[in-house]
Amino acid sequence: MYTNKEIIFSTAWDVVVIGAGNAGLCAAITAAEAGCSVLVIEAAPKDMRGGNTRHTRNLRAMHDEPTDVLTDAYTFEEYFDDLMRVTKGITNQELAALTLRESSALTAWLSERGVRFQPALSGTLNLGRTNAFFLGGGRALLNGLCRHAEKIGVHLIYDAPVDSLDIDDGFCRGLTLEGDTRVIHAKKVITTAGGFEANLDWLAEGWGDAAKNFLVRGTPYNKGHMLKDLIDQGAKPVGELDQCHAVAIDARAPKYDGGIASRIDGVPFSLVVNKNAERFYDEGEDFWPKRYAIWGRLVAAQPDQIAYALLDSDGVKRFMPSVFTPITADTIEGLAEALSLDPKATAKTVAAFNAACPEGPIDQSILDGKSTQGLRPEKTNWAAPVMKPPFYGFPLRPGITFTYMGVEVNDHAQIIFNDGKPAGNLYAAGEIMAGNVLGQGYLAGIGMTIGGVFGRIAGREAARTLNKSVE
Ligand SMILES: Cc1cc2nc3c(=O)[nH]c(=O)nc-3n(C[C@H](O)[C@H](O)[C@H](O)COP(=O)(O)OP(=O)(O)OC[C@H]3O[C@@H](n4cnc5c(N)ncnc54)[C@H](O)[C@@H]3O)c2cc1C
Repeated sequence: MYTNKEIIFSTAWDVVVIGAGNAGLCAAITAAEAGCSVLVIEAAPKDMRGGNTRHTRNLRAMHDEPTDVLTDAYTFEEYFDDLMRVTKGITNQELAALTLRESSALTAWLSERGVRFQPALSGTLNLGRTNAFFLGGGRALLNGLCRHAEKIGVHLIYDAPVDSLDIDDGFCRGLTLEGDTRVIHAKKVITTAGGFEANLDWLAEGWGDAAKNFLVRGTPYNKGHMLKDLIDQGAKPVGELDQCHAVAIDARAPKYDGGIASRIDGVPFSLVVNKNAERFYDEGEDFWPKRYAIWGRLVAAQPDQIAYALLDSDGVKRFMPSVFTPITADTIEGLAEALSLDPKATAKTVAAFNAACPEGPIDQSILDGKSTQGLRPEKTNWAAPVMKPPFYGFPLRPGITFTYMGVEVNDHAQIIFNDGKPAGNLYAAGEIMAGNVLGQGYLAGIGMTIGGVFGRIAGREAARTLNKSVE
């Protein structure tokens, strides 16, 4: 359990931050740099600190000219268009614009506080232009930020899940930890406790029984306890209960914390069937980076939320090898049996698929238009027969990354209550309010951007309203 108990309860903190992920640490550092006394309370033990941030690789930042970590330019207009396209306009445009504008300062700000970035990536889809990659990944980013936070006097405690906030008329009077009735006093409270993706019961309210078969790609600690507490006490929810980022991951991945390694990237070169050995979607609809985020939902819609990617010995060489060894057999029937699929039905589906494939080689470097003919659904690119043994299979499950429903905030990161009024001293940043910007869809790297931008805004506003000098 947490240490230094007395100081936690005996200090009247200027700012208490709930959750030590990217958003929480950005908020804490900003407030501490302005001269606030800051306590960060983290539910996880120290070695598991940092929530989903541990699993990240990059953030997406606007820039008008090349920077030390990003090539060319990624203008406000282009970024905004990208966001509008993926969200289909379901976003608070004012907060979205604020996020994008403030993203331009993020990499420099983080670099000055102990985060190191890789040199800009070249190659695939020009990601080095839009996304800055953390050297050593999210874990290294966290360690850098925690080190910096402690150096400037931020007090961090672990293994200390916050149980409830004592809110009266939009004003938080204090908070308590699980299993402890003593009150922690803070002038300002910043909630950065993530989404509720690790709370399968809550997910089931949006997804029904399917939720029990979801695998959670990130931390088991993001159970949405703070989000629920806020909503129960009148904070205005934003976003839909079933909106989330979910991808297809290997069904053998752990229930929690499998991270990015459990993703299966072979779908475009596979034939994907459900447990009835039926195909259900165009595997070759578009390049994988543009489509991987729809496959979590697609698999979630199948019976028992399971699917199987089937490949032959040519197909299996076309994508980055997975951490999980594929299941293999010399015949399609043998593979089906090993995957617990009906061998006859599987062989029939594969034969029909093979017969519908065009002649000649596929070209995976382009959308080659090599489409099956006469199937439902068609595979519209890279349709090559699955016929060269040995054969390979990967079982797939929906892997939930993070949920979008959160609390509404304004441009000061203040939580809005159901009466439309902003909270007196309560702020939110990161996943817990990402739904303000991301109503649906996803843009790679924007999760960390939303957390960094709103974390800094929340820290700044908390400090400013305590009359501290803010940059
Ligand atoms: C596998 C994976 C890969 C990803 N890759 C990327 C990427 O490359 N780029 C990107 O932009 N986004 C990525 N994301 C999304 C990204 O992780 C989130 O958008 C971002 O980390 C959210 O930061 P946060 O600080 O809001 O939440 P988190 O980092 O999840 O931190 C929330 C913290 O709150 C704590 N907490 C929860 N409840 C309580 C409580 N009651 N009391 C105290 N503490 C509590 C948790 O333990 C946790 O430490 C990825 C997510 C996953 C799962």
